[in-house]
Amino acid sequence: MEFQSTLFQFFLPPQCPCCEKFLEGGQQGICSKCLSEIHWIEPPFCSICGIPFISKEVENHPCGACMTHRNYFTMARALGAYEGSIQEAIHHWKYEGKTNLTPFFAEWMAEGVERYWEPDFFDLLIPVPLHPQRLRERGFNQALLLVKELSWWTGIPYRKTILQKKKPTVPQVNLSGAEREKGLRGAFHVIEKDELVGKSILLVDDVYTTGATVNECSKVLSRGGAKRVDVLTLAHAVRTS
Ligand SMILES: [Zn+2]
Ligand SMILES: [Zn+2]
Repeated sequence: MEFQSTLFQFFLPPQCPCCEKFLEGGQQGICSKCLSEIHWIEPPFCSICGIPFISKEVENHPCGACMTHRNYFTMARALGAYEGSIQEAIHHWKYEGKTNLTPFFAEWMAEGVERYWEPDFFDLLIPVPLHPQRLRERGFNQALLLVKELSWWTGIPYRKTILQKKKPTVPQVNLSGAEREKGLRGAFHVIEKDELVGKSILLVDDVYTTGATVNECSKVLSRGGAKRVDVLTLAHAVRTS
C-alpha cells in the first residue's frame, strides 16, 4: 500500500507550495501566478534597515526607527515584503519541511547580493543560529539551509559554528521593541574569534521582523572583531502600524 502511494506521488506533477496547484510541464517551486504576486522590494527603502517606503516620491534615506535606534549592522536588505505568497512559501518551507524550496530562495538571495554589494565584498556568510533545543524540534536551521546554497551560488565561504545561540528566547511576536531587546541580551555568543577578526560578514536569516535578532547578532559579531556586518533576509516584515 505504501509502495503504491509512493509510486502514485512519483507520477503526479509537483505542486506549488503556496497555492498547492499542480505545476505545468517542467515547472518547479512556486507557480507563475504566485510568483507574479510577490511584492519584491524596490527603492525607495530605508538605507539602513531596508524597509520599503510607501511613498514612491522619496529617495532612499534612514527611516525613523533607524534614526533613533543604534544598529550594529551597516545595511540590511531583503528580497520581498513578508506577506502574501512569499509568506506562505516561507511558512511551508520552515514549518512543513518543504526544503525543496531552498534552491529557489537561495537563487533570489544570490541576485540580492549581486544587486546590493560590490563583487567580493564579503569574507564570510554566517547564518543566524537556532538554539540547540529549537534545532532538535525543527530538525534544521532554515538560515543555515539558505547560507549553504547561497555560498554555492556566490562562492563566499560560510561558517556555521562561529555564532552560537546559548540561551533560548521566547517567540517575539507579541513583545514590544524594548522587551525583545531585553529578551535577546546575552542570547548569542561568538566562538572561534580568530576567524572573525577584520572580516566583512554577511549575516543571513529568513525574515527580518523588527530587526532585534539580527541587530543583537551583529553586535556580538562586531564585538567579536568583525570589521563590518551586513544583513540579507528573504523577506522583510511590513509594518502595519
Ligand atoms: Zn502557486
Ligand atoms: Zn530603517
